[in-house]
Amino acid sequence: MSSFTYQKLTCGLFLSCALVGAPLAQAEDKVYRLKLAETWGANTPILGDTTKRMASLAESMSNGRLQITIDSSNKHKAPFGVFDMVRAGQYDIGHSASYYWKGKVPNTLYFTTMPFGMTTAEQYGWFYHGEGQTLMNEVYGKFGMYSFPGGNTGVQMGGWFQKEINSLDDVKGLKIRIPGFAGELWSKIGAKPVNIAPGDLFTALERRTVDAVEWVGPSLDIRMGFHKIAPFYYTGWHEPASELQFMVNRRKFDRLPEDLQQILKTAMRTSAYDMYIQTHHESGESWHKMKTEFPNIQVKTFPADVITAMRQANEKLLAEYAEKDPQAKRIQDSQAEYMRKARAWTDISDKAYLNSLDK
Ligand code: CA
Repeated sequence: MSSFTYQKLTCGLFLSCALVGAPLAQAEDKVYRLKLAETWGANTPILGDTTKRMASLAESMSNGRLQITIDSSNKHKAPFGVFDMVRAGQYDIGHSASYYWKGKVPNTLYFTTMPFGMTTAEQYGWFYHGEGQTLMNEVYGKFGMYSFPGGNTGVQMGGWFQKEINSLDDVKGLKIRIPGFAGELWSKIGAKPVNIAPGDLFTALERRTVDAVEWVGPSLDIRMGFHKIAPFYYTGWHEPASELQFMVNRRKFDRLPEDLQQILKTAMRTSAYDMYIQTHHESGESWHKMKTEFPNIQVKTFPADVITAMRQANEKLLAEYAEKDPQAKRIQDSQAEYMRKARAWTDISDKAYLNSLDK
């Protein structure tokens, strides 16, 4: 809505047109500039497209009143300092992933994705229509921030393996690059998880410093070239719906006029959904290309004993977290309860539909 239309509308609603119109014109002219720091390097595909899309939507919807500049990690030099920079107000917005802050604030873990947890549609339901957003703001509120969903990768693949995994015995001593909570689970069942910087991953796999590498899925894996050196591509279990985040400094957000707050929220929500759609699209394209160019790639699913061991390790670790911290328990219970109902529906809708095609 242009300022002209809005003022006319205001005149129609209130008789004191001149009084209402004048300060409104001033308020509408004011430009609010926000600075965003992203964890990713400059022009990172999909992730970087999401921040650019968000900033561009916010600017166009606000008629230029909300301007967001983006600094990538090569500029701010602190990919894993985004939480602290937004908290301190050095940046107003951060684009990152909540589970990166688990070492600092354990309960941030739950707002990205959980092993054996919700699918993307189920998790968006929990965030926007269940308790997800409220619980996330409760966790981030202590640090003077809001956190909003920031784009989803969908189901992540289990990783690229040099050798086939036929049983739990093949996991013993296996060196796999996989960070975070999923890495802890691999370690519980006998593997040796390591974290390696993205730029060194290909070389590590090629030189057999690691036996396997977990990254994302075809949309982003194709650029890394893992399919050229590790033929077994395993399906996922550990990140069924990885959601990125927009962290926003509370003071900065609360000071924005209400319409710009709504515009910012709408731009974040739209660009988050869009990232999921873009990832799905690019994964289809990339998977087709990988299969065509490298017909030797073999898609595998982890054997039942590995999955069972992972499930048990997951339940044990979550129970330990819940026991130590009532807030962790509340978040886990909320997710479990939401998933129970949402999954029953997924099973008789999407799952039943896809299964019926195989018959
Ligand atoms: Ca991953």
